[in-house]
Amino acid sequence: MSLSDPKIPFNKPYLTGKELHFVAEAHSNGQLAGDGEFTKLCSTWLEERIGCEKALLTHSCTAALEMAAMLSGIEPGDEVIMPSYTFVSTANAFVLRGGVPVFVDIRPDTLNIDESLIEAAISSRTRAIVPVHYAGVACDMDRICDVARQHGLLVIEDAAQAVLASYKGRALGSFGQLGCYSFHETKNIISGEGGALLVNAPELADRAEIIREKGTNRSSFFRGQVDKYTWVDVGSSYLPGEVISAFLWAQMQDARAITARRLEIWNDYHSGFASLEQMGRLRRPVIPDGCEQNAHMYYLILNGLEERSRFIEFMRQRGISCVFHYVPLHSSPFGQSRGRVSGHCLHTDDLASRLVRLPLWIGVEQVQARIIDSVTDFFMQGGA
Ligand SMILES: *Cc1c(COP(=O)(O)O)cnc(C)c1O
Repeated sequence: MSLSDPKIPFNKPYLTGKELHFVAEAHSNGQLAGDGEFTKLCSTWLEERIGCEKALLTHSCTAALEMAAMLSGIEPGDEVIMPSYTFVSTANAFVLRGGVPVFVDIRPDTLNIDESLIEAAISSRTRAIVPVHYAGVACDMDRICDVARQHGLLVIEDAAQAVLASYKGRALGSFGQLGCYSFHETKNIISGEGGALLVNAPELADRAEIIREKGTNRSSFFRGQVDKYTWVDVGSSYLPGEVISAFLWAQMQDARAITARRLEIWNDYHSGFASLEQMGRLRRPVIPDGCEQNAHMYYLILNGLEERSRFIEFMRQRGISCVFHYVPLHSSPFGQSRGRVSGHCLHTDDLASRLVRLPLWIGVEQVQARIIDSVTDFFMQGGA
């Protein structure tokens, strides 16, 4: 390993090469505001693949989650069950409506919400369950949807990382009444910032459009369903402009190929670390039966916080950027003041301190052997 080896970033956004072509087309179409031709192409693409009632492009997954919180009619004091091991927007969207996040521990195998602990977290104030499909690996949606049905709760999937991943053959984001996708540049299919709200429950579709259009019935007006366009509900501006949608459309053309290439990289890491796992040096990700993942992330579970810090530093010295992930929300200052823990979050605390993510982007194949060798060196040459 020499100092002249190029540095390997943790993430590098992938461009298909067609983005600027479609952006130029959006420019010459003359409509730059949202809900033009490219936005329609992207929503139709999503609706066809997911089989949802309606897919509404948003400017982020955060925006889609905020819309979902409004649509679920969360009122101050209402409780929403979610994992603590997630991105802040999962909780913040509900806190903005006065909701209380109730944090449930994760399963040690997938780091997804432990479905067997959900029932114990339900109170008379519970309104919704928000499963997060960590790393694009599905939560146990059969069990979660059963519990929700029995208790009359909504299911809102935070499927930010789960574009083109599925559970028992069905797209993630299609199980709950609502699902939320992200097209942020750190995700698999990107538009810089971007997202979508997937509306699976037909009775929520009209109101979802209204909330996204500043609380007006502009969308039905343009369809000729009402004769004037006016303020009818709460809402905000959640739609992306056409330039963003044009960019996203280029990515959608190649979405299958992007996923396939990421899966190859994922599989090469997975087989590269098999013997270290057999020797008990680390733990690799677990993909339960029935989960078709999208290779959003490759992570390793190390033996402790101190080892992880040394690992990240060891890799950094070799020019390889590896990063940990969430500070669990129940241990964050705002999570402590606005949320509560149901039972305990022992696996959350433990795994959050031991997980490390490796670079996974299209092009990393060229230097992947160097990454795998460096990880191996760490564990075999006394770094560990
Ligand atoms: C990325 C992410 C979000 C937020 O997505 P944005 O599009 O950046 O708003 C929300 N939840 C999870 C689990 C994420 O990974």
